[in-house]
Amino acid sequence: MSSTTGTIVQQSLDALLEDEAFLPDLQGQTRKQAFTSLVSILSTPNHVHKAFLRIALENGKVVRIPAFRVQHNNTLGPYKGGIRFHESVNEDEVTNLASLMTLKNALHEVPFGGGKGGVVINPREFKIKELHSICKRYVRYFSDVLGTDKDIPAPDVGTGDREMDWMMAEYKSIHPGMPYRGSFTGKSVVNGGSLGRREATGKGVYFTFRYMFHDFIKEQKKWFSNNENVFSKTALDHAERPLTIAVQGFGNVGSVAALEAYNCDHLQNKVVAVSDRNVTLYNSDGLDIPALVKYVTEKNGDLPTTEKDLEQNGIKAVIHDRDDLLTLDVDVLFLAALEDQIHKDNVDDIKARILVEGANSPVTREADTTLSEKGVIIVPDILANAGGVIVSYLEWLQGRETQFYDEEQVFNLLFDKMKHTLDTVLPQFFGDPFPLRQNCYIHAVMKLSTILYRQGKLY
Ligand code: GLU
Repeated sequence: MSSTTGTIVQQSLDALLEDEAFLPDLQGQTRKQAFTSLVSILSTPNHVHKAFLRIALENGKVVRIPAFRVQHNNTLGPYKGGIRFHESVNEDEVTNLASLMTLKNALHEVPFGGGKGGVVINPREFKIKELHSICKRYVRYFSDVLGTDKDIPAPDVGTGDREMDWMMAEYKSIHPGMPYRGSFTGKSVVNGGSLGRREATGKGVYFTFRYMFHDFIKEQKKWFSNNENVFSKTALDHAERPLTIAVQGFGNVGSVAALEAYNCDHLQNKVVAVSDRNVTLYNSDGLDIPALVKYVTEKNGDLPTTEKDLEQNGIKAVIHDRDDLLTLDVDVLFLAALEDQIHKDNVDDIKARILVEGANSPVTREADTTLSEKGVIIVPDILANAGGVIVSYLEWLQGRETQFYDEEQVFNLLFDKMKHTLDTVLPQFFGDPFPLRQNCYIHAVMKLSTILYRQGKLY
């Protein structure tokens, strides 16, 4: 586990020893010893697999591309987590992301462990046939450690249903006669994927935000008003009025979350800004999100970058620099781009009081501490962005049963699961002085420790 996640897991683990609910059957030295075993299990991955994928490019050159599959922990089930194609991928990052998957699945009671993969490329620089070869090579190199009941990859940054379809096909041809439908999730619907999987993460992000700051607070209002906790105050301040929202990242997660916010017009919240790798677009009256979604779908994924582009597509917005989005005077930031976006150099300029992590680790630990001390609520990645892996689980189940759910069933199951988790963590969060991230980690680690103990692994 990398030192950043390590620190927070360590803090959560320390808090566990104080908690009566932690291994109540054990006492004294035995309990301490079990705790030490738990720390050593969770602070290191079970396996780190590395390879150099040898690929012949269309120009005749042969390259060797570093690739990883990290299997962090499989206490709750087969390892599970996406494969990232990005030029900044490295072993530490993949290990960190794999450990987040362990915690994410434990928190939401998804019967999977945590894993993650990565390939060090910028996929935009490769031809389609080359990407196909990279996907096939990846599966070939790691084929012994992947599988329906071993380790199940899914899309992540830089990959999508196309890559999962290619990878599953390769897995099937390497392992004839073996179950293959559940070997990869996030596949296209025609190829055994689940309806709703593409939108699942973005929908889950918005659902978490809406439930937490509207539905939950409305139901618990009396209790909230009597509560002195600094985070309760932030939440109450924001529950009474329409909010302004800025969305960083307009890919699969950000664009869907923005669209959900736009469509949820009875709350009168406004998405006033969105950004991608090139620009920020701002409109204080609210952006026309459906028009922007249409634009990016037609224009290869990027937001409009010129006045002319905006005008021709009837979109009213002012163009700003990409990073300006983060420091806008808005109520809520949805962070749906990459990790480490809010850090020690920009943290003092953040004006939003609610941050929702659609991406994994978009706020550094240092920035997290600074913001939490000011009463800013950060809805952590493992809570907010679990929609993807929850619907991956539904896809895996549907593949096993060869029975498929309609879209409404998928979203109902998704929201029920997320609501169940929120109802478990929120009362404690609004009562405790701990930030929500730590609270979620404690819940996740508590679940893992009970099972590890029952399996006789904590001695
Ligand atoms: N890559 C997504 C995540 O970070 C989805 C993982 C999955 O579906 O296995 O949660």
